[in-house]
Amino acid sequence: MTSQKVEIGKRFLPRITEKRWDHSIERKIFDQWQEGGIYKFKLGRVGKPFVIDTPPPSTSGPWHIGAIAAYSQIDMIARSARMEGKPVLFPIGLDRNGLNVEIYVEKYSNVKMRDMPREQFIELCSKTLDNLEGKMLDLMVRIGLSGDYDHKYHTDGESYRKLTQATFIELWDRGLIYEATRPNNYCHECGTTIADAEVEYEDLTSRLAYVYFKVKETGETLVIATTRPELICSCQLVIVNPTDQRYSKLHGLHAILPIYGREVQIKPHPSAKPEFGTGAVMICSYGDYTDVLLFRELSLTEILAAGPDGRLTGAAGPYQGLSMQDGRARILQDLQAQGLLVKTENIKHRTPVCSRSKTPIEIIPMKEYYLKQMEFVPKLEELAKRITFHPDASRQILLDWMGSIAIDWPISRRRVYATEIPVWYCKKCGTPFLPPPGEYYRPWRDPPPSAGCAKCGFREFEGDTRTFDTWMDSSVSALYISKYQSDPKLFRRAYPATIRPQGKDIVRTWLHYSILRCYQLTGRAPFSHAWINGLGMDEQGEAMHKSKGNVVEPEPVLEKFGADAFRFWNASEATLGSDFRCSEMRIAGAHKFLTKLWNLSRFISSFPQVKAAKLEPSDRWILAELASLIAACVKGYRDYNFFIPATEIRDFVWEAFASHYAEMVKSRAYGQGISTAQQKAAWYTLHTVLKNVLILLAPITPFMSEHIWRQLYSKRSIHIESFPKAAWSKSARHYTANILSFNREVWKIKKEKGLALRDPVEMNVPRGLSPFRDDLVRMHSLITST
Ligand SMILES: [Zn+2]
Ligand SMILES: [Zn+2]
Repeated sequence: MTSQKVEIGKRFLPRITEKRWDHSIERKIFDQWQEGGIYKFKLGRVGKPFVIDTPPPSTSGPWHIGAIAAYSQIDMIARSARMEGKPVLFPIGLDRNGLNVEIYVEKYSNVKMRDMPREQFIELCSKTLDNLEGKMLDLMVRIGLSGDYDHKYHTDGESYRKLTQATFIELWDRGLIYEATRPNNYCHECGTTIADAEVEYEDLTSRLAYVYFKVKETGETLVIATTRPELICSCQLVIVNPTDQRYSKLHGLHAILPIYGREVQIKPHPSAKPEFGTGAVMICSYGDYTDVLLFRELSLTEILAAGPDGRLTGAAGPYQGLSMQDGRARILQDLQAQGLLVKTENIKHRTPVCSRSKTPIEIIPMKEYYLKQMEFVPKLEELAKRITFHPDASRQILLDWMGSIAIDWPISRRRVYATEIPVWYCKKCGTPFLPPPGEYYRPWRDPPPSAGCAKCGFREFEGDTRTFDTWMDSSVSALYISKYQSDPKLFRRAYPATIRPQGKDIVRTWLHYSILRCYQLTGRAPFSHAWINGLGMDEQGEAMHKSKGNVVEPEPVLEKFGADAFRFWNASEATLGSDFRCSEMRIAGAHKFLTKLWNLSRFISSFPQVKAAKLEPSDRWILAELASLIAACVKGYRDYNFFIPATEIRDFVWEAFASHYAEMVKSRAYGQGISTAQQKAAWYTLHTVLKNVLILLAPITPFMSEHIWRQLYSKRSIHIESFPKAAWSKSARHYTANILSFNREVWKIKKEKGLALRDPVEMNVPRGLSPFRDDLVRMHSLITST
């Protein structure tokens, strides 16, 4: 309701002179903060600092809008903790290790890692990362992250890699690491073993082939359905369900493999599902995890059909050297030609793929290092139950994952841009040699830090060429930022960290591995709170993909609407933990709210500030609403759920404050026929509400809050203020519904009669609202008969 015209005396010129919020000054405000050092971490003499285990973003390609949104919310955690009076350690780290980086560099520079000298590829990665990092830090500043830029860390930095290696050596000495050859997920595209946590499932269409086998003893045919006919060569068993009447006469007999003519046993086993295919199943090494379990359980001899290059091995006979896909097509042709194929049908098949390259994985036995985790699961579950989750429901994602863990963690990778495994081996007897912790080791190029083999005395060693799974690095971030083993005094105070913010997509990796590793090293959980936010989707709630053309680019949006609008949009978009939808239209909506608040602040800036006043009932009413707003916002902030303050403030400012209260007291504030005391009460209340709203909003919209605050209320930054206390009685809130509905009623009647808002109208103020009578009469120019 701004169309009501009021005579503005010369005295009442807005102190805020800019007509609109110009977000191009956000950068200048940020520089002011940096110069003032207002976010510097000071440990203080006593008490626990508030430590944020900031996720170091993966520096592998441009930043997704959903990620930027997440970091602006992590900044809200830092800012709200400061306003609670806590010393906040908000580290800025960059994750610069591993497959993501290598894949990006291969694509971006059009090279192949394995075709280049190792040293050269590492250098290329490092250079590319520096370039990407600059852009990333720019964006962090652009959105107002109040982190510790002076001490930013890199997971590929010497001090970080040193820590990863030291923790490995420590766990090795304690017997928690072993080497074993066992079937594991293998991505031939990435050329390495990967952990279960890095496997995703996609519903892919595949052909289910019904193939004739022959029963050796009876000569009858047995039809077996399979999606992997190219693995027939590695079949060592056929199983049928013990309860499946159709096959009970075959128990203990033998099946003859088509094409290869080799015979294998037919056994009853509960793993065979009677409803899938024909109910008879071939067990190969290795088509899926059931195969792995059965080979182990029944001590079958493995025949490896798939090689690490993603091609069929010599075991496949005529199909050797073909890719899995080509091999499959060729064997189907041959089966068809020999009359051994009954039919094929297309089915949707839940296919395990590599989470990085999206390549379907094979299960291949390789010699790898493992970190023990199975025996720790019960303890980890206990720790997970003690960590406070925000929202609480996200704990279950972690518990479900922990409950499904079936093997120890394979931690070695056949890659190059990551922390090296610090092990050398005696060239004669193979005995592993581990150096003392405290240095950064590169065994693929450094000389061994030992004169001779401890076992045989031989003087030549060979360095391990493998690297660690990058989660080995990221899982100790809480230790790194609290200066584990490098600053015992800080570590005692800063560990465990207060809060781990992260996305729900990396619960089974980063969250799980962090708890596992930090527990193994310190006997404690790495943090007390886990904050799990949702993911950024497109406007229809679909994941964003370049191929779908639905990606919202962050830079143009920030350019157009500014960081505050972006941040306010994100906070008010979805409650904590839910996925949120990204679109320019939604951000434009947030921008509108900021314009509203700007105009309101400008209006209020016209009036002088007074220290105290004798309040009128309308003033007491809006302060009652403010008291309730403060309580709700502070509660939301303490739960790190910024949706609550953002939406509560928006509703309060837009509705009760701007549309109703400000209109009710406008005439009074301008002093039209009003005593000075009543006028001052309006001034006092308008400023009190604005001041409190700005403080409450400061963690969400740090730039605009600061700008208005400094123009009107203080030379000092708003970001060193504390959250307000709700000092006013909330009792007048019982009038709220009546005030709002009476005003709406008057507006409606005027509209129906074709009257302007300031035109007089004959109407009485209802008895229930008599305390507000004078303000309401002036607001609506009511002509009353009572
Ligand atoms: Zn891969
Ligand atoms: Zn030796």
